[in-house]
Amino acid sequence: MSRINTDFRGIIMFRRDYRERDLLVKVLTDKIGPAMFFVKGAKKRGFRLAADILPFTHGEYIGLLANDGLSFINAASDTAQYRNIATDIRKNAYSTYILALVDSAFPDGQGIGGWFDQVATALKLINQGLDEQVISNVIETQLLIRFGVSPTWDRCVICGRDDIPLDFSEQSGGMLCQNHWYLDERRMHLDPRSVYYLQRFSTLNLQKLNSIKINPSTKRRIQFVLDTLYDNEVGLNLKSKRFIHQMGKWEEKLKK
Ligand SMILES: [Zn+2]
Repeated sequence: MSRINTDFRGIIMFRRDYRERDLLVKVLTDKIGPAMFFVKGAKKRGFRLAADILPFTHGEYIGLLANDGLSFINAASDTAQYRNIATDIRKNAYSTYILALVDSAFPDGQGIGGWFDQVATALKLINQGLDEQVISNVIETQLLIRFGVSPTWDRCVICGRDDIPLDFSEQSGGMLCQNHWYLDERRMHLDPRSVYYLQRFSTLNLQKLNSIKINPSTKRRIQFVLDTLYDNEVGLNLKSKRFIHQMGKWEEKLKK
């Protein structure tokens, strides 16, 4: 890519101190996916782009984009922070996790197609108050394929049937119909509702979602399936994920 100023849309993923006065800012861009930006003088008081590079800020930027090495931001417009994400610990934790997942799933400096809009919409919905766990589950389900794991969600992996009860089998890499449950005695024993949601999540366009409500026990089962896949098949061990897990334990304690 030539070193000329380019317009791009961006979401600030995280920032890191660099030297005394400068910052490295990781931005999810619509043009080249995740990219690291060097922002000179960013820690000086009165820095003109200070508000534009706060965590969980999104907007239009102009800068020099590099496919490898550091990129540069020169100007910003129409930026806004996802306020509720920045201030609410649960929303913050799940949004941080979504961005970390995306950062792991895509190499820096390459296009990510429709994923920019899907992530921007996920954060917008979490900011608006939709269930952050469910939104994360949708992203988790759809990113599996990026990590080389592509479960068959919609039908039995053996015979293709989808008209009788299905259950998820990790060992088989997808659903088994009732007739083939005998093949995996360690199948997940999911209820039809959890199966239904996993199937929907795998193809859901978040931009068409207005509301979603799933009961706690179904959410636990869905999360169990996704955690199993991410732990065993993908093998990711993200700090942000461990934090969510820890947060769940605190909440359990508080209930008691
Ligand atoms: Zn079957």
